[in-house]
Order: sequence, then C-alpha cells, then structure tokens
Amino acid sequence: MDFRWSDAEAEQFLSQFASEWGEDLALRTYTSRLLGSEKALVLHGGGNTSVKGDHVNVVGEQVSALYMKASGFDLAVIEPAGHPGLDLRNLHKLRSVSDFSDEEMVREIRTHLLDYRSPTPSIETLVHAFIPKKFVDHSHADAILALTNQRNGKQLLEEIFGGDVTILDYVKPGFQLAKAVAEAFAANPDKKGMIWMKHGLVTWGENARESYESHIKLVTLAEKFLASKSTGHLALTNTTSVNDAEYRWIKIAPMLRGLLAEPTGDPDLPYERVILRALTDERTLGFVDSEVGKKLALSPPLTADHLIRTKAFPMWVDEPDYSDDGALRQQLKQVIEVFRRSYVEYLDRHWSSAEHGLKRFSSNPRALLMPGLGAICSGKDVVEADICRDILAQTLDIKAKIGGMGDYDGLTEEQIFAQEYRSLQHAKVSLLDVRLRGEVGIVTGAAGAIGSGVARALAQNGCHVALTDLPGERLDSLFEELSVEFGSRVLNVPLDVTSQTSVDEAFNTVCSTWGGIDLFVVNAGLALVSSLSEMKLEDFQRLERVNIEGTLLVLSSAARLLEYQGTGGDVVMISTKNVFAPGANFGAYSATKAAGHQLARIASLEMAELGVRVNMVSPDAVFGEKERKSGLWAEVGPDRMRARGLDEEQLQDYYRTRNLLKSRVTAQHVANAVLFFATRQTPTTGATIPVDGGLPDSTPR
Ligand code: ZN
Repeated sequence: MDFRWSDAEAEQFLSQFASEWGEDLALRTYTSRLLGSEKALVLHGGGNTSVKGDHVNVVGEQVSALYMKASGFDLAVIEPAGHPGLDLRNLHKLRSVSDFSDEEMVREIRTHLLDYRSPTPSIETLVHAFIPKKFVDHSHADAILALTNQRNGKQLLEEIFGGDVTILDYVKPGFQLAKAVAEAFAANPDKKGMIWMKHGLVTWGENARESYESHIKLVTLAEKFLASKSTGHLALTNTTSVNDAEYRWIKIAPMLRGLLAEPTGDPDLPYERVILRALTDERTLGFVDSEVGKKLALSPPLTADHLIRTKAFPMWVDEPDYSDDGALRQQLKQVIEVFRRSYVEYLDRHWSSAEHGLKRFSSNPRALLMPGLGAICSGKDVVEADICRDILAQTLDIKAKIGGMGDYDGLTEEQIFAQEYRSLQHAKVSLLDVRLRGEVGIVTGAAGAIGSGVARALAQNGCHVALTDLPGERLDSLFEELSVEFGSRVLNVPLDVTSQTSVDEAFNTVCSTWGGIDLFVVNAGLALVSSLSEMKLEDFQRLERVNIEGTLLVLSSAARLLEYQGTGGDVVMISTKNVFAPGANFGAYSATKAAGHQLARIASLEMAELGVRVNMVSPDAVFGEKERKSGLWAEVGPDRMRARGLDEEQLQDYYRTRNLLKSRVTAQHVANAVLFFATRQTPTTGATIPVDGGLPDSTPR
C-alpha cells in the first residue's frame, strides 16, 4: 500500500485550516482523508481517527480534549468539524464504570462534548480516549481482515509482525472494547499498533504523519505476506462470460425485483419495493462459479462493521436454470422464502438480548449470489444498494484470498446479532420519509418542459427516474442538471418511442440499472399547427407515429414488463385539453392525442387485473419550465404571437385569462397531478385530471 503523505499537501491543509482549527486538527483532517480515500482500508463511513489537544474554554481554563471522528461521517471527505471535541478528563473517569449500555455510553459521550451542537462522536470514542497517544488511526484494512479471519490467524500475525503489535481477541465494539484496549495498551505500551481479531487495526503516534505511516507500514507487511501465500483465486467449476452474465441479469432483473418486493397489506400501496444493483464482473463470476464459492460466501462475515448494510449472510441460489423462466421463478421464490424464514428464526433466537425499542430489519436478503450470473445487492434506494454492493465486492475478494491459503474463521452468531441490533448502528441507517423511495419511474419526452418538470418532481419525492427522450443536447443538459441534485437516482436513456427496438433497449437499460420499473409517464408528443385544408399527409403521419404509435409501444411494452415483474404499477399519460375541446388548426394534434388518450383508457381496462392503475392528466398549454421551452411553444408560440399581434408575455396572459381561475398553467402543476396518481391517493384508474385553471368546454365527460 502506498504511503501518500506529501509535505506540500500537508502545508496546504495547514494553510487552509490551521488558523481557525489549529495545526493538529488541520493535519488530522489531512491524514484522515488519506486513510479514507484508500478503499482497501476504509469503506463507506468505516474506520475512525482522533487527535488529542488542549482547548481553552469560555472562562479561559485550559481543558485537555479529544477530537473524535463523528459517527457516520466519511473519512475520505471529512472537514475539521467532522472531529467534534470532547472533555478528555471526564472521558478518562469512565474507565472505572463496570458496564454501559450503548444508550448510556452515547449519553455520557454527548454530555462531555465541548459544543452541545456537535454531531455524535463515533462508537469507538472511548477506545481513542483510553489510548494515551496524541494521534490514533483505526481502519478495517482488507489485508488485516484476511489474516484475522483465519483459524491460525494469530500465528500468522506473530509470524508477520513479530513483537511489533499487540493482538487482541474479538470484543464487541463499544465500551467493553475500550476497556480491553486500555488494558492491552498498558501491558505493552511500546508497540507500534494493535490488531483486533475479526475487526481491524489501530496505530498511534505523537504526530499525524507518524500514526499514518505506522498504519501503512503494517498494512503493507500484511499485504506482502498475503501475496506470497495466497493465490487470491479459487478453482473454477464453470466459466461464465461477462456477456452471458449481463444478458441473464437483464432478463431476470424485474422478476427477481418483483419477488423481493414485500407485501404491505395496504391495497393502495401493496408493496414495499427495493432497488437492485448487480455485479457481473469477472472477479465476482470467478467467485460464484468456483468450487468453494458457496461455502465461503455462506461463512460468517469478516467483520461486524457492515452488518446493517449487508446482513450477515448472502442468499445463495444453487444451479439456477436460466433457460427455463418458470422453473427459475419457482426456485427463486422458494430460496427467498427460506432465507426470510431463517432470518426471522435467527432474530427470534436472540431477540431477548436486544436493546429495547429497536425495530427488526426486513427479512429480505441484501446480497444474492447466483452462479452463472454474479451478485445482486438490494436496498431501499440506489444509495443503500450501492453501499451493499461495494462491501460485498470487498468481502468476496478477501474471502477469496483466505480461500486461496487457509481455513476461514468468522464471527459467531451471538457476535453478529450483538452488532446488527444495537441502537448506535441503527442510527446510521437513515429512515428517509419520501413517498416514492424504492420506486423506479420512466418519463418519456423528459427533455421538454412538462417532462422535465415531472421528472424533477418525481426525483424530489424519492423516485429513481429514467429521463428518456431523443438523444441530444436537451436530454444531456437535463441529466446533468438533475444529477447534481439527485446523484445516481437519475439516469439518461436515449429513446425513440416510435421504434420497438428502441423501447426495448431503453426498458432493458433501466431494468439492468435498478432492477425494474414501476411508473411510466407517457409524455412524449408532437404538436402541429395546420388547418385540415392545408394539412400535408406526411406531417399528419409524423404526429401519428409519435402520439399514437409511440403511446401504443410504450403502453404495450409496459404491460408486458409489469406482468413479468408481478407487483402492479402505475401509468400516467400526459394528455391534453384538446382531447375534450379540440382547437381549429390543431386537427393533427387533437386527433392523434385523442387516439393516444383512448389507448390509455383501454390500458386501464386491460391492466387493472395486474394491479396497474392508468390515469391521464390533461393540461392546457404549458409553454416552458425554467429555461426549457415546450415543443408546443416552438410549434404554436411564434405563430400565435404573430397572428394575434402579441408578445410572449401577452400570449401567456391570453391563455391565462381564458380559464375560470385565471391561472397560468405550469409544469409544476402537471407534475403535482402526476404525483397525485403516482402516490395513489385515491383508488382511481381510467380517470383524467384537468390541469387548466377551469375550462368548462374541456371538462372530461
Ligand atoms: Zn472499527
């Protein structure tokens, strides 16, 4: 492992932070980021660091302080404020307490913060407090775990490190670990670091560089030893190509996602859905296709650190038959049921020892391993699923290393439960209260005014949103704009709704990215201004292709996908007031949109038995959303302005004043109506909501 300290970078941190935060915290921030950016050391908020120093309080007294990484903060991007200060003298006194529950420990730790507004310091705060060294660095380094999780691990560690480190048996992280570490340190104060079996490594130093350097040196020794002893590879029984794996994944993703959706008992929102993320790379395939893959995968976890993200055990599917869809569905259903049952049994065995007030996690698997396909991780949203996926990839890698050299030895069931069910850990899993979390929506014509407004509103409500439109700058710029705000919950998918191949490809892209689709916003459409007498047939046909055939292709493909997924869904068609009150010179638009509208009504009849609701929103003219002008505007705006001798503002006023409420209709209004249906506020299908400020002629009838 590379030692990345650079004096120049250290200087930069000093000049950026030292005047406000002091030199120690400036350099603490620097080496914390060095550790945090090394994936083989720290993943997703794992690891923690601290520094001790003096603090002058408001009445001028000097207090010795511990600056400890806050729980849930990511070392890779930490700021000085991510190490809140605590009164160290008071923390030292806690050594005399015989035991603490997590709740009591957190209360004590928070009581001794130097600033009551600080975030809660890490679960390992007292460990750092009890080690009498200025800088302390702790990680769950891959190479260390690969050694501490072998049956003869201690022997190997002695061989590698000689007497340089203290080795400590596994102790549940928290107060008892802190006491054990304090004792072990006192017995051997001159060591360079300490290794905790099945947990990780701690190093220390009088300055930031020394502690970091020890850390890298010890990990490098472990890495070199592993490289000389372990092939890192497992004997293969089968070799699946990445292409085959990807093809299989795309094919089965919605089926698997449907099977993992949990019934809620609520007829309006009958399923709690998950997002799926797949690993179909060569390394993962090598693992699941190997002779010992199953045994290693189902062995206990390497460390207790990530149980809330991954669960202790993945679900393994024996010899899946990818050639027989029906048989595979049956098999997956059964394996998932067995998994759920055994998870509940595991909880029942230990629940009496759980802290009060803790909620049980869903009994669903978080990681699924399938020979011939790879691994699939699930989460309540893509962020959760990705965290699980990163941790799983690392776990498989380390287990392959161990499998290539010795006997694996992991945590016991009691140790697993004790760490999976503790309030300190549960506090890290956010319970976001967003209505469409876990849902996947696809918006056609997303680059337009209404489409972009709907897409944004869906994403704001937690939905994963595929932005589809003809490829080009308009779509790309929308994607860029929304990804800044919503990260990996938006996806850019080129789509021509008039081509079945293009629709299939787009749906496949969405399903392979997130596992399936639940909501279809059928919005792509074209407008045209022309009287019947002057209408060119090819112009009419152009509208027919998008407004009718495009709607048909999306609806029929959606119906097939939703049936295969098996958990219902929603279709919302963006119709128009012209369906009910057509306008002169608007024949092609009014007629083709009316046909599309009628198809959606038919879809509501045909798809009800699948648990799919199909509804329509019929807005009056929306001319733009922020900077995005609508296609309708491009078609009719300049023309109408000329015909009526109005400027843009006046034309919008013309549309506003023709409705009862004198409202200007916006994309946000249309999006609100889509949300009404998408969040299933009423048991409604086949219905139309006008969003037009009140136009008596175009009230649906
Ligand atoms: Zn730890």
